Amino acid sequence: MAETILKVENLKKYFPIRGGVFQKVIGNVKAVDDVSFELKKGETLGIVGESGCGKSTMGRTILRLHEKTDGKVIFENKDIFALKKRELKETRPKMQIIFQDPYSSLDPRMTVGDLIGEALIDHKIATKQNVNEMVLETMAQCGLAPYHISRYSHEFSGGQRQRIGIARALALNPDFIVADEPVSALDVSIQAQIVNLLCDLQEKKGFSYLFISHDLSVVKHISTKVGVMYLGSLVEFASKDEFYSNPIHPYTKALLSAVPVPDPTYKKNRIVLKGDIPSASNPPSGCKFHTRCAYATKRCSEEIPQYKEASSGHFVACHLV
Ligand code: SF4
Repeated sequence: MAETILKVENLKKYFPIRGGVFQKVIGNVKAVDDVSFELKKGETLGIVGESGCGKSTMGRTILRLHEKTDGKVIFENKDIFALKKRELKETRPKMQIIFQDPYSSLDPRMTVGDLIGEALIDHKIATKQNVNEMVLETMAQCGLAPYHISRYSHEFSGGQRQRIGIARALALNPDFIVADEPVSALDVSIQAQIVNLLCDLQEKKGFSYLFISHDLSVVKHISTKVGVMYLGSLVEFASKDEFYSNPIHPYTKALLSAVPVPDPTYKKNRIVLKGDIPSASNPPSGCKFHTRCAYATKRCSEEIPQYKEASSGHFVACHLV
């Protein structure tokens, strides 16, 4: 059985809201609110949910790009938030991120060679003498031609820029990559190429992904496990097959009912959710989903549902379970 590479335990990330003359803390935006899960070597966990549900903040907090409010992140048996500055720097190459927007995440003043090679030199993985050789090797793995090394990112299309972003992460030989909506800024025709590249690289290198997306079709293609987030909390978590064949949480069912099916004769019962996602600074009492749930009862507005195992490896937070 594959070893566990990442363990997230009761992770919380709150952003304080300040107000008044003395800018005192008057509340918190609970962007990540008590999230726990495990990821094994070579697995991909797809995290889905509407915009503003805390997916990206969770990814960044796991990488310690944000400090946590509470909880633990254990990566390769190391408590990420207990690491000293030097230890964290040593661990950084193993935990990488691919950003959503390939337009703003690449410095336009740097050549592709510098963009990919910068971290290699910084982490002493390459020297000035052999950095180009390593950069060219990574570029080839990501489908970039050797002559691209001296070009600037603005000379490339969105898909090629995302290949540069992937090459930057890949060059450091990571064990775990947070892919934060890596294809949502791209044309649909390019999305499949980038998703296939991510799959191919994983097959060759054996690393794990946390794949953040709002697109359940893309997540189905790439993931081994799927988690659904709502207002900072995981409401359902299961293996991919279990998730798509036996969704339990009413929110998951609503999300799945909105996925287009490429068959004009197939009639789908779309579940339309009432209203907008509530504010994470003032989430509803009890089950946070109760203001939009068709099955909500009085209990749902009063009592927080426990996140429990409905069947082996299938976790759900709903009083109906
Ligand atoms: Fe709906 Fe109640 Fe379940 Fe929440 S706990 S998802 S409101 S039925």
